[in-house]
Amino acid sequence: MLRTHNCGELRLQDVDKQVTLCGWVQRIRDKGGIMWIDLRDRYGLTQLIFKEGSTPEELLEKARTTGREYVIQALGKVEKRFSNNPKIPTGEIEILVKDINILNPSKVPPFIIEDETDGGEELRMKYRYLDLRRTPSRQNLELRHRLMQETRLYLNQLDFIEIETPILIKSTPEGARDFVVPSRVNPGEFYALPQSPQTFKQLLMVSGFDRYYQIVKCFRDEDLRADRQPEFTQIDCEMSFVEREDIIRTFEGLIKFLFKQIRGIELPDFPLMSFDEAVKDYGTDKPDTRFEMKLKHLDSAAQGKGFKVFDQAELVVGISVKGCAEYSRKQLDELTDWVKRPQIGAKGLVYVKYNSDGSFKSSVDKFYTSEDLKTWAKELEGKPGDLLLVLSGDKESTLFAMSELRLEMGKRLNLLDPKVFEPLWIVDFPLMEWDDKVQRFFAMHHPFTSPHKEDMNLLETDPGKARANAYDVVINGVELGGGSIRIHDRTIQEQMFKALGFSKEEAQSQFGFLMNAFEYGAPPHGGIAFGFDRLCAMLGGADSIREFIAFPKNNSGRDIMIDTPSPIHREQLDELHIKLKS
Ligand code: ASP
Repeated sequence: MLRTHNCGELRLQDVDKQVTLCGWVQRIRDKGGIMWIDLRDRYGLTQLIFKEGSTPEELLEKARTTGREYVIQALGKVEKRFSNNPKIPTGEIEILVKDINILNPSKVPPFIIEDETDGGEELRMKYRYLDLRRTPSRQNLELRHRLMQETRLYLNQLDFIEIETPILIKSTPEGARDFVVPSRVNPGEFYALPQSPQTFKQLLMVSGFDRYYQIVKCFRDEDLRADRQPEFTQIDCEMSFVEREDIIRTFEGLIKFLFKQIRGIELPDFPLMSFDEAVKDYGTDKPDTRFEMKLKHLDSAAQGKGFKVFDQAELVVGISVKGCAEYSRKQLDELTDWVKRPQIGAKGLVYVKYNSDGSFKSSVDKFYTSEDLKTWAKELEGKPGDLLLVLSGDKESTLFAMSELRLEMGKRLNLLDPKVFEPLWIVDFPLMEWDDKVQRFFAMHHPFTSPHKEDMNLLETDPGKARANAYDVVINGVELGGGSIRIHDRTIQEQMFKALGFSKEEAQSQFGFLMNAFEYGAPPHGGIAFGFDRLCAMLGGADSIREFIAFPKNNSGRDIMIDTPSPIHREQLDELHIKLKS
């Protein structure tokens, strides 16, 4: 090896040892007669010292020809440092250098490669290999690695077996959009990249593997949104001979294990909350339950008093924000602008100040008496000193806007404690959602999810009413994973496709392989998948998943380092039988 030690391991007890280190020049301090270089590698920093008297003049000259990010090899003796640096583990020693070899010079890096950098995100992504030399970036990938190993440890010990499933699969119209890959040898035909290994893991259950997992790349060609990656990683799992409670116990165990191993945090048991309750109280199926501020419907208290906006609304919903009755006009205007932003999409915001003296001042005083507003306050469980905020409109977008406003107010009141983790299972989702635009049902989870046992016959009679035997894990408002007990019976699977508007032939041509397999002794089974990148970000205490992916794409789905997506040559297109529209 080119080195005897790494840059993070030498201590006082190594004094007098002759050592050889390799690494990158992080910093040079040249005081003329004395010069220091901080040498960095993955393990840490070690200080090299060159001083007149001990260091030959040519060596000093040679050291002076290096610069930031040069790769060098340094030979020398470990010495006790004159003044310690308590901030780094090697801070009590330094290396009195006898010789250096420049292994490779470096151009001046485009940003400072230290914990605090001056590089903006675009620049850091363009030079991601340099960004990854920085300790915080490196530590994120180390955390990812540990999380992967601990996941495997937990699942292996429960007899799960890791099996790879194919990456080139078949495109299906359900779910998100597929990334497709043209087949050169089969003109006009395409593979698709998997959105998840769903059908394969179910087939593995038919094969009798019983307990499967895979830490696996999945691909979804969805519309761009902040912090969404077209390729991402899941911990994908499936089990046979289980019911919902077995899955819940097994995978609550996994999440608790990971929090304990990685962060030393003991998570409480995860309570169950129904989808209906989550939507009613929080306006979303991924509620942040670290704080209350529950939503309350105001329809009956607010409608029929001549205020058209409310009277015409499908839903009037409000929250009571503790101690904010003193909000100024300016603050309220700013909040109104906030809810009107396109990301939130509300048309306006109605406020009621419930003053500490018990009086009311609202933006709708023209339409409502103090008595009316008192009723609102009662419904919203507001107390004197609170600010009541009310939104209205069609149900879906109003609930969305209100859930966002609730979070925003929670943030402003410092109620989102990053040290607190509140996990829960959301259960009893609807099996299907009606899409008005295309006039058909869509599976809320995916078409392989089983209805509740009691709702089985609704598949034929009233599919919109059936509840799914599905479950999501939510922590602090983030959906970490989800899954379901599956259909394992051909007839029920056929009914499901029928309810989703598939003809018999369409169902057979797209999913015949799975339904055929169900006719050869498919065991009852169910599973779950966790968003691995998101889990890393949560355990790393960060918001962005990008920081935990070695080479991520940006918000436009581009890898700006390798510059892709990119055009391909005409000959390549011809070979693939693809004609571009000119
Ligand atoms: N395949 C599903 C997903 O990716 C998870 C599951 O049902 O296991 O969301």
